[in-house]
Formats: sequence, structure tokens, C-alpha cells
Amino acid sequence: MDRCESLRNWLHHLEEKSELATIEKKVSLNYEIAAAAKKLDGKKAGYFSNVEEYKTPVLAGTATTRQQFADALNIDVDKLSKTFLDALKQPLPCHLIESKQAPVHENIIEKKDVDLLHQFPIPVHHEKDSGNYITGGLAIAKDPVTGKQNVSIHRLQISGKDRLGALILPRHLYNFFKNKEEAGEGLDIAIVIGVDPVLLLASQAIASVGQDELEVAGALKGYEEQVVKCKTIDVDVPANAEIVLEGKILPEVRETEGPFGEFPKYYGPESKKEVIEINTITHRNNPIYQTILPASYEHLLLGGIPREASILNKLRETVPTVKDVHLTIGGTCRYHLAVSMKKRNEGEAKNVILAAFAAHYDVKHVVVVDEEVDIFNMEEIEWAVATRFQADKDMVVVHDSLGSKLDPSTDQGVGSKVGFDCTVPLNAQPMEYERIRIPGLEDLNIDDYIK
Ligand code: MN
Repeated sequence: MDRCESLRNWLHHLEEKSELATIEKKVSLNYEIAAAAKKLDGKKAGYFSNVEEYKTPVLAGTATTRQQFADALNIDVDKLSKTFLDALKQPLPCHLIESKQAPVHENIIEKKDVDLLHQFPIPVHHEKDSGNYITGGLAIAKDPVTGKQNVSIHRLQISGKDRLGALILPRHLYNFFKNKEEAGEGLDIAIVIGVDPVLLLASQAIASVGQDELEVAGALKGYEEQVVKCKTIDVDVPANAEIVLEGKILPEVRETEGPFGEFPKYYGPESKKEVIEINTITHRNNPIYQTILPASYEHLLLGGIPREASILNKLRETVPTVKDVHLTIGGTCRYHLAVSMKKRNEGEAKNVILAAFAAHYDVKHVVVVDEEVDIFNMEEIEWAVATRFQADKDMVVVHDSLGSKLDPSTDQGVGSKVGFDCTVPLNAQPMEYERIRIPGLEDLNIDDYIK
């Protein structure tokens, strides 16, 4: 599509491509939206127009395939990593517009009237989740030191009328908050719900601290992201968003949050977590509530695509002839990495394996293949492991290294990493690894042969 300026814009595009399923049947917030979204996952977005007890519709599965994310960026699907890397290197500053021009400021709910679960259809997704969760909200906050903004997504438990329990892992937002908390203050934060897939993708950039992910979104789109200053806090938010919750992460407050079904398809445990108090809500006329089904293709790809770009960049610093990388869906788009490369020197594939372990701590199993193997085809990857790998020579194992704490087979994240060098030895005889081939296969259209 030409311009992906807003969620509504994107929905229009999906509708034209017959990739939007409009569900008019009455659905419950409890599990039913999640179950229907799961059935549509990887195929169509689900627009639920008749949610029990609510006027506001729910959108689930905004983009659930690589092709859809590529469509949102107006690029070919094999250019995702390159496009993302270019955007990281050349971010585009946002354009600040007036409140009266900003669709998201069409309506304001004041503090005394805030009642999250009454006002918005916030679903319960999995059987043992502790309750209703906001899963697709962009958390935007300003670094108290540099003044630069940060964007990230966190699971947000509805803990009261104006209260959210948040899982904030020790990254950028966490550091902003800790700096404030040590000074006895809270951190102003906006939760932005209902945005286009480019903004969702940009929010997951493996960017350095001080890099505003909204500026990455601008670079991905090729034009400045329009932002507006929040009504009650000094944070700029996308002006075309559907809903913005304005609030504060409270200092010295921790409350029970979880369990919650997470991306590895297991529950993240209950524990004491940070609390966000909501002061004001702004929203468009007839807002659309957006949810991301945890562990869905959407959730996994949002984590995977930006990671692939950063990992590709790091691997090429070690071996410049790395062609492409793929964080596979079955490996939760985090733990399993496939790499294709042109091996010029014996041993390079093993260096790539070691670089992959270092590139991101989540990477656990790595398969390296020659460049002609299609790493986006799992059958091809398995074929390479089956026919080009010998465990005594081609396996790299590193024990007791840090991986994902959400991988239950680790000891608090500490575990083993394994690499499979499935590249053909450079001194192999010409026919030894010659792939069988049928001349004319690629150009033959079988429909021309069938009566
Ligand atoms: Mn960041």
C-alpha cells in the first residue's frame, strides 16, 4: 500500500485485499475473541463489531504474516531486514501538530470518569491469565536525562478502574523509571492503543537507548510521523491513534500481576510488578480497540522481524558474506535462528554460529546453511540438517550461558546453546553435494497440462 498513516487506513487496505474478517456475531470478551483470532491467525485480521456489553469494536491480528508487514511498508517481503536496518540508521524526526488537528484528541475522559474495563473491551486471552490484559499498547515515555522518547510494548493487567499492573523488563523504559524512582518521583507514561502495523513494528526495534522508535517508524514510512502532545503529561503520541491512556508509573509501589500466557506459549508467573495509574484518556470518535493475541503470528513476527535486522547486521560484522537470517515461528521468533551464507573459508560457518549466540541472548539453536538453501522454507532447513550435518564435526555447543528466562527448560535463563554447521565442506567432490535438478521445472505451468 502507498501510505500507512493510521490503523483505519490499514483496515481499508486489508478490506480491499479481502484480508479483513468482519465478525458481526456477538462475542464475549472472555476467551471468545482470542479463540476466533487464533483461528484467523496467519490469514486475516478479525474485526469484532459486536462485543457483548460494548459499543466499541475490537480488532485482533492487525498483521499476521510477513507479507502483510511488507505490504504495510510497501516493499517486497525479502527486503524486510534491509529496510528495517536502513530505518534504524537514518531515523526521521516526528512532526508535532496542534491538539485540535489531532484525531486522537476528539474526545477526553477526565480522571474522575476513568473506568478502563467499563469504557473499553479489553479481552481475557488465555485460560490461566489473571484477568483482562491490554496487549497491544505502545508505552511511550520521555527519558528524564536526555529528553528523548522511548516506545515499547508491555503486558498490562487491568488491576482497577484506573490501574494497570505492568511487566517492565530491565531495558530502556525501566531505566527511565528507575532514575525517577530513585529521586522519589514517578514516570509519566502514555499507553497508545490502535495504531498501524508500521508503528507496531518500529516499537520493537532493537534500538540503542536515546533512539526514539517513533522516528524509526517515520523512516520506515518515508515521511514524518504526526504526533501530538498529551493533554496532561509531557509526552508526544501518534496523532492518528485510536486511544491514548495518560498516566504515571508510581514510585515505590509494586502489586500482584500475572500469571499471563506469553510468547513461548507458557505462562509468565505471578509476582509483584510496577503499577501505572491512569489520569486521563483521549480517543477518536468511534474508537477501535486493538488487541494482540499473545503467541500469535502477529506477536511473534513483531518480535522477530526487528530482531532479524539487528542480528543480520551483527553477523555481517563477523562474516560479510552472510546472506540472510530467519527467526522461525516454531522457535517463537526468538530461540531458533537459520542463517544462509556464502562460505569462502572453511570454518566461517562456526564463527557465524558464535556471533549469533552473542548477537542476542535469546538465540539458542542456530542452523547455518549455504546460500542456495531457502531459510524461509522449513523443509529445506530440515533437509540441510539431515544431509549436510555430522554431529562430531559440525556441532558447536556452549553450556551455562544466558538465554531466555521465559524458556522453562533453562535454569532461570541459564542453559546450553547449540549450533549446526550445515554448510557443504569446501573440499567436497563436485558430485557429492550436487542437488538433483529437473531441467525446465521452474518454468513449467502444470495447468497447461491438465485438461
Ligand atoms: Mn528503545
